[in-house]
Amino acid sequence: MKTYHCACGNKLFFENSQCLSCQREVGWCPVCKGIHAMEPDGQGGYRCLNSSCQAHVVKCYNYATHHVCNRMVESSGQARSGQTLCDYCQLTETIPDLSVEGNPAKWYKLEVAKRRLLYLLDEIGLPYGSRQEQFELPLSFDFKEDVPPTTLGWLQIGPGEKVYTGHADGKITINVQEADSVEREKLRVQMNEAHRTLIGHFRHEIGHYYWQLLVQGKDEAAYKALFGDHENPTYSAAMQQYYANGPKANWRASYISAYATMHPWEDFAETWGTYLDMVSVLDTADNAELLELPEDDLVDNQFDTMLLRYADLSLKVNEVNRSLGLPDLLPETFSPPVVEKLRYIHNLVARNRKRG
Ligand SMILES: [Zn+2]
Ligand SMILES: [Zn+2]
Ligand SMILES: [Zn+2]
Ligand SMILES: [Zn+2]
Repeated sequence: MKTYHCACGNKLFFENSQCLSCQREVGWCPVCKGIHAMEPDGQGGYRCLNSSCQAHVVKCYNYATHHVCNRMVESSGQARSGQTLCDYCQLTETIPDLSVEGNPAKWYKLEVAKRRLLYLLDEIGLPYGSRQEQFELPLSFDFKEDVPPTTLGWLQIGPGEKVYTGHADGKITINVQEADSVEREKLRVQMNEAHRTLIGHFRHEIGHYYWQLLVQGKDEAAYKALFGDHENPTYSAAMQQYYANGPKANWRASYISAYATMHPWEDFAETWGTYLDMVSVLDTADNAELLELPEDDLVDNQFDTMLLRYADLSLKVNEVNRSLGLPDLLPETFSPPVVEKLRYIHNLVARNRKRG
């Protein structure tokens, strides 16, 4: 992730919607692709104050109305401020009930994590698209909450609904409860995970999406050789086995996490999520001058170079965290089989991305 600069010279960050120094409104400009100060044009629209851009833009509806987005949309006859959703917000198909206390704040956190995910996919050049664009596997997001059973006195009249975070045919569903940091920490401890984050959920689920888009029917033999046969045992049999007996013993020798042992699909999604974590951390560290990658384009870097830089950075930032009594920032160590799975994903990404 890069940082940006306001017209006043102050540093701006990806999540900003206002400059804390000059109070100007700021937003993501779709024309010059960065966070910049936005000057009202007196007609409900804005002008990008990046001197080499000056594009006429309007706020995304979710920015103007709900403040859960900070992206602008190119100004056109139809795109008047507060009426058009940005490219990223269009992918969200279901939002939580905003009349429920706490839900607007949870929706905001979900959109922030989703923007970081999509920014990284765009940076790398990974393909995705919407139903409207008639993309071959349309990507969309549902942010839903559990519905408790409806009762009338002692009588249960509605069954209620439990929402499972997951992916199916391009649709990523996230249980809104994951945006509650107390609930998420409870689950993290219960599941014995090194970290459990909103952005981690997005990076895991998009792994299932890319399995379907890039591996299924296209690269299954190479995938099976590393991750195992996804058809035997079936997913439901593997899931029952996992929840009855727990993860495979000694999983650290060949898996990135305990959950990855459940089924080859979960192994792929867990490893894919870890690859995106690694690329994102390297990108940010490179931009912040904590390390230097040989190639400007992230995926052009040799995989072994990326691993070495990441391991070196881990030692340093983990020490910084320990000096504050915090858990390690980058707790994972990669066993040789995990390195080979990560390498497979790196090569899969390199083969399938669009070059900007
Ligand atoms: Zn400013
Ligand atoms: Zn601009
Ligand atoms: Zn938006
Ligand atoms: Zn999964």
